[in-house]
Amino acid sequence: MTTFADLGLDPKVLSAIADAGYETPTPIQAQAIPHALAGRDVLGIAQTGTGKTASFVLPMVTMLSRGRARARMPRSLVLAPTRELAAQVAENFDIYAKNTKLTKALLIGGVSFKEQDALIDKGVDVLIATPGRLLDHFERGKLLLTGVQVMVVDEADRMLDMGFIPDIERIFQLTPFTRQTLFFSATMAPEIERITNTFLSNPERIEVARAATTGENIDQGVVMFKASRKDRQASEKRALLRALIEREGTDCKNAIIFCNRKTEVDIVAKSLNKYGYDAAPIHGDLDQSQRTRTLNAFREGELRFLCASDVAARGLDVPAVSHIFNYDVPSHAEDYVHRIGRTGRAGLKGRALMICVPSDEKNLGDIENLVQREIPRVENPLDKSASQTGQQNAAPEREETAEGGQAVAEGPEQTAPKAETPKGKPPPRPKRETKKRDPGKETPAHPAGSSGKDDRNPAPRDKDGRVIGMGDHVPAFLTRPFKAPAD
Ligand code: AMP
Repeated sequence: MTTFADLGLDPKVLSAIADAGYETPTPIQAQAIPHALAGRDVLGIAQTGTGKTASFVLPMVTMLSRGRARARMPRSLVLAPTRELAAQVAENFDIYAKNTKLTKALLIGGVSFKEQDALIDKGVDVLIATPGRLLDHFERGKLLLTGVQVMVVDEADRMLDMGFIPDIERIFQLTPFTRQTLFFSATMAPEIERITNTFLSNPERIEVARAATTGENIDQGVVMFKASRKDRQASEKRALLRALIEREGTDCKNAIIFCNRKTEVDIVAKSLNKYGYDAAPIHGDLDQSQRTRTLNAFREGELRFLCASDVAARGLDVPAVSHIFNYDVPSHAEDYVHRIGRTGRAGLKGRALMICVPSDEKNLGDIENLVQREIPRVENPLDKSASQTGQQNAAPEREETAEGGQAVAEGPEQTAPKAETPKGKPPPRPKRETKKRDPGKETPAHPAGSSGKDDRNPAPRDKDGRVIGMGDHVPAFLTRPFKAPAD
């Protein structure tokens, strides 16, 4: 088996790796590092969780330890699609370069220009940046890219999704033709292929298996969920999420909950908090200091649930995430792979559960095609409790949306586990006396004056006993009162 010592890394780097507790190189490290050290361009088709960050940072530290930084002319450049990912690369750099005197600067939005400018003026060995911010610095005349010997593009497929490809092309053109390029992408979309053909020179192509197709340590499941009523889908889905969390019990040490939209991220985080779960949102609309605080709290184990959008969570390195909840089925199948790759890292076991509503079924099919396996269907915990205890109708509660407006009403909560009583709220209103009902079916409210023994209206008839109009087949919505009767 290959060891780190076999790879040709600097002894100072080897001792930093030993301190980090790594015993053997991961496949991408074992394959990429020798080529990188030999000065070859590398095209790594790998996603987060495979150890790809170390596969470029370790050889960079080894190569850069010979030579010196010059003012305003960084010797190497790492481009990452998001601030979080760039910050994470910077952290990795600190770990692996701790026995060297190499310096770095981090150019990301939300961090002051002044401080980073001062570092660049002095001269840095490694510049880690998001593309837009790098070009801002360049255009302000503070930076020269002609000294870049090694350039890394990390998560190129996400750069493509985020529209950064023209920026990347421009940055490539600002660096010397002789530079070495280490280029990483989870997938090879045609546009990515084009860029690598244009800017990489005879690269060594290394592909490592996807975590999702090989990740036996990630236990996956999907709950097929249909709301009892369309207008209750959002609240019932949130109740289902809580029930799923409860069902995992103490195994669920912490979790990232992925939503497709930023507004949903806020709503879900707020709703979880309301029910006593320790949750915070992270997405691109939040300011950088808040994102950093939330992320640190999650990393440190002070925050149990991180509600996230794909972009914000992409590439996040939190080594011990026990659970992923896909509150929404991602609309790009690739994102499923990235999302669940946040758990089951570094050999730990992980669990990834997803909620699929009928309109998501096509996207679920796309995911199953991509990962080439069927995601096991798991039971809806609320169906179970509903069939055991009977589900009752309660007057729905209103919930504030993150935008301050009124969101959809929360549905009946009696089926939810104990922990679901909202914090700091008055006790729930007494339940209305209603019949047990099949949670999957719509039951019209009893019209005033009806006996309540039968859920249906007696059909109006003419004097000859013939049914008038729609007779027994009155659609449920026609018999429902406009306003819930006061308790
Ligand atoms: P990455 O794919 O770069 O996001 O890394 C995934 C995780 O694996 C990070 O938490 C790294 O600290 C960890 N890691 C990277 N290389 C190794 C290794 N050789 N042995 C154990 N853990 C590693």
